[in-house]
Amino acid sequence: MSTKPSSEGLEKAIISNIQRFSLHDGPGIRTTVFLKGCPLRCIWCQNPETLSAKPEISFRHERCIGCGSCQAACQCGAIIRGNDRRIDYSRCNACGDCAKACPGGALTLIGEEWRPDDLAAELAMDIDFFRESGGGVTFSGGEPLLYPAFLEQACKLLHKRGITVTVETCGFFDRSLMDILVRSADFIYYDLKHMDREKHRELTGRDNLRILDNFSALASTHDCLQPRIPVIPGMNDNIENIRHCASFILSKGIRTIHCLPYNPLGRDKLPWINTIQRPQVFEAQERDKMEELKSLFQKEGVDAIVYS
Ligand code: SF4
Ligand code: SF4
Repeated sequence: MSTKPSSEGLEKAIISNIQRFSLHDGPGIRTTVFLKGCPLRCIWCQNPETLSAKPEISFRHERCIGCGSCQAACQCGAIIRGNDRRIDYSRCNACGDCAKACPGGALTLIGEEWRPDDLAAELAMDIDFFRESGGGVTFSGGEPLLYPAFLEQACKLLHKRGITVTVETCGFFDRSLMDILVRSADFIYYDLKHMDREKHRELTGRDNLRILDNFSALASTHDCLQPRIPVIPGMNDNIENIRHCASFILSKGIRTIHCLPYNPLGRDKLPWINTIQRPQVFEAQERDKMEELKSLFQKEGVDAIVYS
């Protein structure tokens, strides 16, 4: 997808959420910006509202008081009363008027257009927390590199204010964007979801060739490249994959990996939105299993940091 320049020549991006006081998205206390749109389709996706790059309306049936204000507000005839799904997405243009009219908070517009200068000004409000904690801003998603010009401009503005930036990436981006990433990010958090090419395709919709190539190139050009593995029960937590992953990152001169246990809370969001896929739901990862995984990595010579 591409973003269009605004009248001031600044690229815009669609942002689904700005989350303050994040503790796992880089050093210190961070404000995490979730960009909308992702080139992968992981079957365990925990943020399905970021899959589509377009703004979308979500509907939470249990919050609806049946007042009918949404139907009156909608100019497109996209509200279906008495229906648990409520929105006819073939008619909806995501204007957000229904959400503004809804007194119960049942309707929410997910995804708003932001300019980099407005975003930098908003994020700079947290600068005291960043200074005290050694934190900063993290761009996550979705995939931040779907908005390369926006990312570069926003990072420049943040750097000018003395704010550091972490970029979290799935690694599936065109090699021509590598320079932008290297220039823009102080820290790069890079997901390695599965080391087997075909298994990666099965689990995410894409094989891992480009992802591993990009990782290798970044490892030789960026000092703060941090691999991460989202640990999905029964999918990528087997010994073979862990060994392969460990030997790959060691071969690039990297000795630590962050392990993110699967969190099933994302499944609550599924009925609220018009997802373009229905991610599968797994059981929460057991703490013992994560410790086992940590030992496995350690045996291979890699220090694994397990997130809670
Ligand atoms: S977002 Fe706009 S078009 Fe879509 S249902 Fe709400 S009011 Fe109608
Ligand atoms: S405006 Fe909100 S609370 Fe009222 S009927 Fe529509 S969704 Fe329900």
